[in-house]
Amino acid sequence: MSLGFTGFDYDRASAIREDEVKLAALRQEPSSKTYLLFKDEIFIKDNNPLFKINEEGVFLGLFAGQARFATALTEKEASELKTYGYLTNDLRSLAVQNIMDEAHLAALASAKSLFHWHNTHKYCGSCGGETRMKKAGFQRDCPKCEAQHFPRTDPVVIMLPVKGDMCLMGRQARFPQGTYSALAGFMEPGESVEMAVKREIQEEVGIETGDVKLILNQPWPFPASLMLGCMAQATSQTLNIDYLELEDARWFSKEDCHMMLAKTHPQGFIAPPPLAIAHHLIKAFLDDK
Ligand SMILES: [Zn+2]
Repeated sequence: MSLGFTGFDYDRASAIREDEVKLAALRQEPSSKTYLLFKDEIFIKDNNPLFKINEEGVFLGLFAGQARFATALTEKEASELKTYGYLTNDLRSLAVQNIMDEAHLAALASAKSLFHWHNTHKYCGSCGGETRMKKAGFQRDCPKCEAQHFPRTDPVVIMLPVKGDMCLMGRQARFPQGTYSALAGFMEPGESVEMAVKREIQEEVGIETGDVKLILNQPWPFPASLMLGCMAQATSQTLNIDYLELEDARWFSKEDCHMMLAKTHPQGFIAPPPLAIAHHLIKAFLDDK
């Protein structure tokens, strides 16, 4: 399984966002379809998440030349649809179960993060005035002070400190039993990826690190992050765990990691599933990347 939400790239066709005539024509086009979302729920009928177009949808882009929109339903609309036999599932479950086309997962990841931004930016951060959606969903303008607002993506560093044939992983109390994962934290203003990786490792487990390498990255629509997956060469080994952040952290050998990925570790330790970037970081460590 490929890294979650990265298995399909589509044409975001950003020029169309500003073209009202083209957008109106696309809304009339029979091959144009929309996804329907209400908060974390994604609507599905007969295993299909695509529905007839409506007037309100934001424009996601072109999928093999066909326009795809996404519509945020009101609570009333959502409960009405359910009475007509529409089912719902959340995006994380759909991705973990691996039962939906990668193109749908990519589109729904965009839609979910975008709607989170709309819901939290109804008012202008500069003057408090009510903002209005523009550019088919990719901008909000404030008519009062003329500020323009753009969708946010929040970068998160997620990293494995490594030392020789050992790597360090931690667990938070909320993780499923036995699961250990890469350390992670939000980047702070003014930080480079390397600075954030070193700081987070120091804060969470008290380890000093040297070289940091960006290995892979992943959009993570819970609600709107970009995960920057790194490997960091540890220069110290003794742990000083921040128990407010972590329930535990420990060093694992490559043999441990193989067994954790295969779910055969004798102590019941488990690695995160393939949907998550941490799974692929552990594999990269085993492949000496
Ligand atoms: Zn304003």
